[in-house]
Formats: sequence, C-alpha cells, structure tokens
Amino acid sequence: MQKDIEKILLSREAIAERVRELGEQISRDYQGKNLLVVGILKGALVFMADLVRQINIPVRLDFMVVSSYGSSSETSGVVRILKDLDMSVEGWHVLLVEDIIDTGLTLKYLRDNLLARGPESVKICALLDKPARRRVEVQADYCGFTIPDAFVVGYGLDYAEKYRNLPDLCVLKPEAWQK
Ligand code: 5GP
Repeated sequence: MQKDIEKILLSREAIAERVRELGEQISRDYQGKNLLVVGILKGALVFMADLVRQINIPVRLDFMVVSSYGSSSETSGVVRILKDLDMSVEGWHVLLVEDIIDTGLTLKYLRDNLLARGPESVKICALLDKPARRRVEVQADYCGFTIPDAFVVGYGLDYAEKYRNLPDLCVLKPEAWQK
C-alpha cells in the first residue's frame, strides 16, 4: 500500500491536533443541547470515531450510508440513501459528519433531506474541504482543513475501497489510479 503513495498531505499528528480543536469547539457550542452526531459512511468512519472522543458533552450517534448515481469518481448530484437513520431527529440538534466536501452535492442533498424532518438544527462538520470543485452552495460549519484539488486517500477515504486504513491523509501516485 505504501508504495502507491506519492506524498503525505496531512500527517496523523496534524489531523489529531485539528480534531481535538474541533471537538472542543463543538463541545462549547452544543453545551446544554441534545446533540445527535450523524456519520456518513464509509468515508467519515475514522474521522467520526476520533472526533466524538474529543467531544466532552453527551452525544447520540447514528449513521447514514449513501451512494451517488453515476461513476465512482464523479458525483451526479442524485443521492441514494442506502441506510437511513435509526432514530427520529425531532428535538435533536443534528451534526452531519462527512469526510470531504467536493462538489457539495452530497451534503446539500443530505442537509435539505434532514432539515425536512423537523430537527432543532442541522450543521455540517467536514474533515476536508475542496472549494475549487464546488458546484452548489454548501459550507461546513466546522471544517478541519481546506485542501487543493487533488484526489486524497487514507484516514477513512478510499480509492476503489482501498487505502481507508492508512493513518495519514495521502495523495496517490498516478500509477495507482490506473491499476
Ligand atoms: P461531493 O458530493 O461533495 O462531490 O462528494 C463528496 C464525496 O465524494 C465524499 O464523501 C467522498 O466520498 C468523495 N470524494 C470527493 N473527493 C474525494 C477525494 O479527494 N478522495 C476520496 N477518496 N473521495 C473523495
């Protein structure tokens, strides 16, 4: 796996430090509120696991699994919910946790979908933001890092279901794309 890596974009140490800051900020902002953290699987798995352990107020956890129609590297904007929340969001402040905002299509759809269910609020926490590729207006309320327009893997993010278990966030060598 390591031989496919061009470079480390964000080290595990840099990520851990930023996740700690995000956890502190979220803990302050949601003090006294019913906080429901919703992870978008599979990409947000690693980030969410680290993030919630840096939040020091009570939280509920739930997950959604989504897939977008179209090819795997280009989102079409039509999002399919493969696994929905187990619980109702009424009475809860929802924090959507996502690995990366790219075109923004996935999160715009999910935010609007959840808002229609009558929660107290819906906010977005994304580890990564690639603003260069945005196609719809959607912003993270909490953002780990803004990154350039490169395809990244590791720390939960995959290429063809590989590399999710790399501890650092990496850029792949071009040869690894062509395999
Ligand atoms: P959006 O709807 O914002 O275009 O797409 C978000 C999804 O696209 C992310 O949840 C992720 O699955 C995928 N994605 C976008 N950019 C990257 C990237 O650089 N690396 C990986 N592994 N996935 C990405």
